[in-house]
Amino acid sequence: GVRVRDLTKRFGSAARPAVDAVSLDVRPGEFMTFLGPSGSGKTTTLNMIAGLEGVTGGEIRIGDRDVAALPAHRRDLGVVFQQYALFPHMTAAQNVAFPLRRRKLPKAEIAERVARTLDLVRLGDHADRLPRKLSGGQQQRVALARAIVFDPRVLLMDEPLGALDKKLREQLQIEIARLHRELGVTVIFVTHDQEEALALSDRIAVFNEGRIEQVGTASDLYERPATRFVAAFLGDSN
Ligand code: ATP
Repeated sequence: GVRVRDLTKRFGSAARPAVDAVSLDVRPGEFMTFLGPSGSGKTTTLNMIAGLEGVTGGEIRIGDRDVAALPAHRRDLGVVFQQYALFPHMTAAQNVAFPLRRRKLPKAEIAERVARTLDLVRLGDHADRLPRKLSGGQQQRVALARAIVFDPRVLLMDEPLGALDKKLREQLQIEIARLHRELGVTVIFVTHDQEEALALSDRIAVFNEGRIEQVGTASDLYERPATRFVAAFLGDSN
């Protein structure tokens, strides 16, 4: 799992921290969603866990390792963003192979892993296509495949479906739920979409102004909101 203690981020001379002493335990294999309004600190928290943003203070453990001092690629995690960030001149298979090539795995193992992972995201038939020949949903599947090709312990996703229309979002939600089940990976998923959080999460952490107001299952949050903010935010159906 992922264990965070007093995680804090202050940008420059900002009056208040963007992330303010956040503590959280994500259990092994759990699907945890960060839900909250724009600017509440979800992305900054995720990026610190990913190693993409420096921390001002606090601890981050993944499994039994303190990762605060490790670079992103040594943290045993995969990351997917809203923007797919695929290499436009590489095929789907080459995009997925890229992190394996950088790590100089043997060619046969790379080919085998890429084929297996593209099958897992149901893109086996599109391995040789360039990104511009793929739909938005298919491009995001390639990004997902690239993030899981190393069998990471933790998968971090920041609004991965934010750029897709409603129908595609719903399809990809089902795929993400299936992958989570099949891989047994620990997931942290950022969204501001309540419906999406409800559909996917084991538990939800509600963010507001750099802090977590409440962590619980959907029924915990809806039936027993811990603060006025949680009640108002969840009541304000989008
Ligand atoms: P959104 O859903 O809009 O992405 P969020 O909940 O993910 O919002 P963050 O992106 O983590 O929120 O932003 C938290 C706060 O930190 C905001 O006030 C934001 O303006 C500030 N912030 C984020 N990144 C930077 C940066 N690089 N420099 C300065 N301030 C930043």
